[in-house]
Amino acid sequence: MAQDVLLALQLQRMDRQLVQLEAEIRGLPKKIAQLEAQMGAHQRRLEEDKAALLANQLEIKRLAGANEDHRLKIDKLKKQLMQSTNQEQLTAFNHEIKFCESEIVANEESSFKLLEEAERLSGVVKAAESNMDAERAAVEKQKEDAKILSEQDRKKGVRIYREREKLAKEIPPALLKDYERLRKKHKDGVVVAECTEGLCTSCQMNIRAALLQQIRQYPDKTFYCESCLRMLSFNPPRSVDGTIASTPLST
Ligand SMILES: [Zn+2]
Repeated sequence: MAQDVLLALQLQRMDRQLVQLEAEIRGLPKKIAQLEAQMGAHQRRLEEDKAALLANQLEIKRLAGANEDHRLKIDKLKKQLMQSTNQEQLTAFNHEIKFCESEIVANEESSFKLLEEAERLSGVVKAAESNMDAERAAVEKQKEDAKILSEQDRKKGVRIYREREKLAKEIPPALLKDYERLRKKHKDGVVVAECTEGLCTSCQMNIRAALLQQIRQYPDKTFYCESCLRMLSFNPPRSVDGTIASTPLST
């Protein structure tokens, strides 16, 4: 392979590592923010369930109070009933007593339903509280891990960046210029495309037989894909023992 292509490949490897590290470093706070948002949503849901449970308990208390009032009223009405002097009064007191009794039954039915719901809600709240503790601990651990990873990535990035700077100073300026031009042009960061089995593996276009022949004939020269204009690194098919297999030159 041409020396220029080898050097360009080295630069490409470093640049791609730097891009990857940068993406990882940038992605970490996003991941943490997502986890925190998820935890916030769980916390809000827990607060809602707690509020529903409290409202439920207050309603049970209110119904019990109302029934207590109804019972006192019934006692009072019964006393008045005993003292009633005519049929009209009797009917009216009886009617009121019946009304209070039906209210007591209705309130007791409502209370029963509310108690069932309270039982369910308190189970949900209890489980959610325990889950929240575990979730909070997990998020804290992830944050700590992310901090460590981010620092490791940063250090690795600095090391690669220095190596890259050193290499950039050592390689021929014309090659560096060419490399940078191609890197700018190809957003995927692939400046050197592999040429395998008569194809440019980056743009998937066939390489003309004549060009392929030249590539094979002049391994020290730098060639470019005529379609995507990337540098080509020639990668002939190899047999199992690692030697280059003799394949026809045509594509
Ligand atoms: Zn190509």
